[in-house]
Amino acid sequence: MPPSFIVALDQGTTSSRAVLFGADGRIAGMAQRELTQHYPRPGWVEHAPQEIWESQRAMLEQVVREHGVAPSAIAGIGITNQRETTVVWDRKTGQPIHPAIVWQDRRCAAICEELKNRGLEAYVRQNTGLVLDPYFSGPKIKWILDQVDGARQRAVNGELLFGTIDTWLIWKLTGGAVHATDCSNASRTLLYNIREMKWDERLLEALDIPAAMLPDVRDSSGSFGTCICRGATIPILGVAGDQQAALFGQDCLATGQAKNTYGTGCFLLMNTGEQLCLSQNGLLSTIAWRIDGRVQYALEGSVLVAGAAVQWLRDGLQIIGSAAESEPLAREAGDAEDVYVVPAFAGLGAPHWDMYARGAIFGLTGGTTRAQLVKATLESLAFQTRDVLNAMQADTGIRLQALRVDGGAAANNLLMQFQADILGVAVERPQVIESTARGAACLAGIAAGIWDRDAMLSRRVLDRAFLPRMDAAHRQARCAQWERAVQRTRGWLS
Ligand code: ADP
Repeated sequence: MPPSFIVALDQGTTSSRAVLFGADGRIAGMAQRELTQHYPRPGWVEHAPQEIWESQRAMLEQVVREHGVAPSAIAGIGITNQRETTVVWDRKTGQPIHPAIVWQDRRCAAICEELKNRGLEAYVRQNTGLVLDPYFSGPKIKWILDQVDGARQRAVNGELLFGTIDTWLIWKLTGGAVHATDCSNASRTLLYNIREMKWDERLLEALDIPAAMLPDVRDSSGSFGTCICRGATIPILGVAGDQQAALFGQDCLATGQAKNTYGTGCFLLMNTGEQLCLSQNGLLSTIAWRIDGRVQYALEGSVLVAGAAVQWLRDGLQIIGSAAESEPLAREAGDAEDVYVVPAFAGLGAPHWDMYARGAIFGLTGGTTRAQLVKATLESLAFQTRDVLNAMQADTGIRLQALRVDGGAAANNLLMQFQADILGVAVERPQVIESTARGAACLAGIAAGIWDRDAMLSRRVLDRAFLPRMDAAHRQARCAQWERAVQRTRGWLS
């Protein structure tokens, strides 16, 4: 029997997981371990690189062992990862010189301010597709080189290596033989020129980062070396950042196809094809993947508070006992639709970008019920998603045909139906909700030559499609009311 299993390593912010896929593309097993979060100061978030590596390796071995698969039956490994999180380590010893600085970490705000003052904002936008923000890896590398004694000189001498989490795992898995990343991860560093497809010299200079420490940038589907697992040699064949992997795993392979992940926040990505599309509406441009040397770009936007608003109902207001309870309770509100919740708890993100906005509830009367408040909160996830999708459609001129969904809150049928209603397009929820792992597995399966895109598409099984039922006039009225509500939250803090 030729090897026919694929393992996806899904190294997320809160856990390391290994997901085993069978030849038929179905999930055959999974292993997961939580990851320790370190908060050394307000606004700082760190992970231990060694724990990331050890937990990921342990989960790989566990999933293979527990499901009785011979390691020689595994055709390849795909890696998907929390993006932007930064590790710098010693090329000889393999020891990190500093804890991993996690994407959420805000310590590099001053570095970004300085680059803005030097007039680099427009250049960054046009050449990396990003905004000057501490999220991205470049400022984090600079911070480590500035703060760790002797680090910059060692980097210049070629003694130090930088990697995002994919690169760190590849280097560890291959025993230090391969120092590489894929284009989708490179495009989140703020150092990679996504027009010219190379590390950007001007930005490297501006951040004082020696090119010697940067990984080789490769196709997302292809060879990244081999690792030894339980005595067998297994090739690493696919790599992509988590959101891009989810776009691939949702089979958004054609221009104009989009997915939304409803987690704590929402992550929306639209495949914009082989042309780079820069946003006029505050969205990011990024590389979705590169296969056989051909780049696909994407537009990305996020909703800052999505599932977090449901958590607020549960933990803050304590009017629901669990997130799942929001659905039956919201149904009790029937067709009442006078209440609007704008969960601008930390300001408004794309496309409004107002850090002075704060949350508000509109339309309250003496008769407003708990059920109505819950319903309006769920609806706010859908309205916010619509706002970002509208921005994407305005930027690309593409009219969305359907929205593919995943993430925790995509389980909520009332929310999904309302999403379809308010967009006026179908909302499709796949049976394999593990889009991120599926994407990494597909990238590896394609490179292994055991899967192809047609097979992927033919295996796409929907759990459910939600079709729009609201008439256009009603939709317009509700969206207009939502927009009034959003306007009234703006500039609340002065
Ligand atoms: P993350 O990866 O950001 O932790 P998940 O994809 O695990 O997020 O989704 C968890 C989020 O989804 C939580 O914020 C939770 O409030 C929300 N959530 C989970 N189940 C439901 C549900 N049935 N209805 C509405 N929201 C839900």
